Amino acid sequence: MKTSDKTEWFTEICEEHGSAISFRIRQQLHEEKTPYQRIEIYETTDFGNLMVIDGFVMLTSRDNFLYHEMMSHPALFTHPDPKRVVIIGGGDCGTLREVLKHKSIEHALQVEIDERVTRLAEQYFPELCESNNDTRAELYFGDGIQWMKDAEPGSLDIVIVDSTDPIGPAEGLFTEDFYRNCHRALGENGLIVQQSESPLLHYDSIIQPMCHAMQAAGFAHTRTMPFPQSCYPSGWWSATMAGKQSVERFRESDAENNEFETQYYNRAIHQGALAEPAFFNRRG
Ligand code: SAM
Repeated sequence: MKTSDKTEWFTEICEEHGSAISFRIRQQLHEEKTPYQRIEIYETTDFGNLMVIDGFVMLTSRDNFLYHEMMSHPALFTHPDPKRVVIIGGGDCGTLREVLKHKSIEHALQVEIDERVTRLAEQYFPELCESNNDTRAELYFGDGIQWMKDAEPGSLDIVIVDSTDPIGPAEGLFTEDFYRNCHRALGENGLIVQQSESPLLHYDSIIQPMCHAMQAAGFAHTRTMPFPQSCYPSGWWSATMAGKQSVERFRESDAENNEFETQYYNRAIHQGALAEPAFFNRRG
């Protein structure tokens, strides 16, 4: 999109909610149509590189730490001893990098449907891919829905669903059937965490139905954690945890005496994120 002074902007229009988010760009670095989706990469003036899939902003170099840290550390500090993690989607590898910061992890598998997302992340977001050669990391390219159907019962500690919005190939990742398969694949302290869109825009349409579907699939406990995310519609995003055991308590002293570096996550942020906005309960 061009303004009169010839400055170029990338704009994601959120038609349904009458809003938009824009980044001023220097140039488009790449564009391709894969068998699954259209991927674009831009160089922005202030947010580093920007990845867009099917017109929706996926991440920027500058603010992805918020999302990747909240998609991984709360769940990893909630499980008493996480060793085996599967990331469904997450092709940019940022969540994988955060997961591997935890020494207890023995195996972290990323199941991404579109290999091109990962190959482009290696090229344009190399800092997110720096743990891809860790001996505990495995990259598998295939459909996460099918992968979870075939998973060995009780073989996982944590499932992280780092997917696109619930349309196209990701639609089936937001269903009771999928959560049932996750429940079967998880051990007794197992939990799932899933990106659950904007608390402001999608509470009724996505967050609440997701929590109900997770509960119907057998997860007794759910908790939606809001966090700021400047590059997504409304600037406010969320991750929903669902556990066989409580997801409201976590290993606070391990989170406090964290041996690795984070930019956003810490014990107090985790504790704060467990406090749900008043309007969540009102809509019950
Ligand atoms: N942070 C992002 C967001 O919320 O917009 C998500 C980033 S990550 C790039 C999302 C990935 O999920 C995409 O690379 C997409 O290919 C992948 N994906 C979508 N459906 C999938 C499925 N059924 N199985 C595995 N990966 C899937």
